[in-house]
Amino acid sequence: MTDAAESSPSSAKDHAPSTPDWTCGTCGAEWPCETKRDLLLEEYRKDRAMLTVYLGSCLATATHDLPTAGPSLQERFMGWLPRQRRHS
Ligand SMILES: [Zn+2]
Repeated sequence: MTDAAESSPSSAKDHAPSTPDWTCGTCGAEWPCETKRDLLLEEYRKDRAMLTVYLGSCLATATHDLPTAGPSLQERFMGWLPRQRRHS
């Protein structure tokens, strides 16, 4: 196990979602914005399943907040995830 210094800077660059619109609080794009996707992949690099769980809970909340968005929300929240194909 490596113990990299994990100092997260201020939350201003967090690219956290701004609800109930679900836009990025940092750059204003639809959340998760491209930067946030990169951040999430990095953050959950070792535990991709948790990322799916996290996005799923965000999706559930967003579905509630944005009832008119429909099924495209699922694509927006989960569709960008790189698929890991495993053969065994
Ligand atoms: Zn952003």
